Amino acid sequence: MRKRIASTKAETALEQAGRGQRMSREEALVLACRNGQPEPVPLDELLGAASQVRQQGKGKTVTFSKKVFIPLTTLCRDYCSYCTFRKDPGQPGAHFMTPDEVLALAEQGRRAGCKEALFSLGDQPERIFPEAREFLRRQGYACTLDYLAAMCELVLERTGLLPHANPGVMDGALLDKLKGSNASVGLMLENVSVRLMREGLPHANAPDKVPALRLRTMEEAGKRSMAFTTGILIGIGETMEERVDSLLAIRAMHEKYGHIQEVIVQNFRAKPDIPMAHHAEPSLEEMLRTLAVARLILGARVNLQAPPNLSYDDFPRLLDAGINDWGGISPVTKDFINPEAAWPQISRLQKETEARGFLLRERLAIYPEFVARDKFVSPRVRGKIGALAAADGFASRGGVEAP
Ligand code: SF4
Repeated sequence: MRKRIASTKAETALEQAGRGQRMSREEALVLACRNGQPEPVPLDELLGAASQVRQQGKGKTVTFSKKVFIPLTTLCRDYCSYCTFRKDPGQPGAHFMTPDEVLALAEQGRRAGCKEALFSLGDQPERIFPEAREFLRRQGYACTLDYLAAMCELVLERTGLLPHANPGVMDGALLDKLKGSNASVGLMLENVSVRLMREGLPHANAPDKVPALRLRTMEEAGKRSMAFTTGILIGIGETMEERVDSLLAIRAMHEKYGHIQEVIVQNFRAKPDIPMAHHAEPSLEEMLRTLAVARLILGARVNLQAPPNLSYDDFPRLLDAGINDWGGISPVTKDFINPEAAWPQISRLQKETEARGFLLRERLAIYPEFVARDKFVSPRVRGKIGALAAADGFASRGGVEAP
């Protein structure tokens, strides 16, 4: 027998959210962390409401993007204590990719059927490392972000893959440049809490993790009508209340500009070589609860993503919490941010998704609802999208033809 909901407040909040009503902060806190209520909302009730809301906006379709991951540089001026991607010059794995390396990797992705080139990189390493400045000078660039813009152009023109840049904090001038070559751009908000920047907490030595800077990047992208990927990182020492506030900040941004194409909920995983090696990871139940609350806060139409590889064999259960996207899956490159966690094969993703009654569809680096919208992509990128999209805006069945 199902356990009954713990309190009238929680029951009302769930019923209203299930009907698609906009959720207040107080209601979200009751569902996420009791907020003075005697018991937490039973997980199955929360998951049921989140699934109902997803059904209203997304039906039975669950998506993924076939991508090649291009780690343009592992050098970074920040020192987030959960990060295994960043390196200092001289450390094993410290690298700036040359244009030839970028093209070779993108081409490998194209041949394997990828349609997205995801550029991930450390934040502005030239600000603290002479080695980074020297590399950029030899390539003819003053800063990493200009080099990134040029590499996006190169990949778009020479391979036809759609770039999606995820370089950290961006200003308006850079976004203007990226709009000429990117189908969408991204920046994880991670969390709106400035508390996480205090000594001993994960963002203490990460100047680019100031929440106001990240919100400003999201806002600048919104002003420019650029499809934007963002999300939260959970389990890094934040409270549930801070998670809720972060989701509410994303919702507010989307309500203002209508440009948030997807929201990722990413769970922290401990790794032996990071300062947070012994920090507790969020449990599967915590992940499910957070995802369900995210769906209820964000509503039926926002795309909600959870990376399957970070839940290992439990990943199909994430579908119970209202997600409708698995994110980028690469047939050629590992997850450089979580190198210990292999992506499931696309065939397994399809089998598990269909076993739960959903239809798995490949999407592009830009979601179907944004493909059709005026102003959201430059004419040049629109031309490239036209060669890759089916009539309904999802990815067509074929691969990218060599230009
Ligand atoms: S998470 Fe990003 S910003 Fe932080 S250290 Fe790693 S690469 Fe740098």
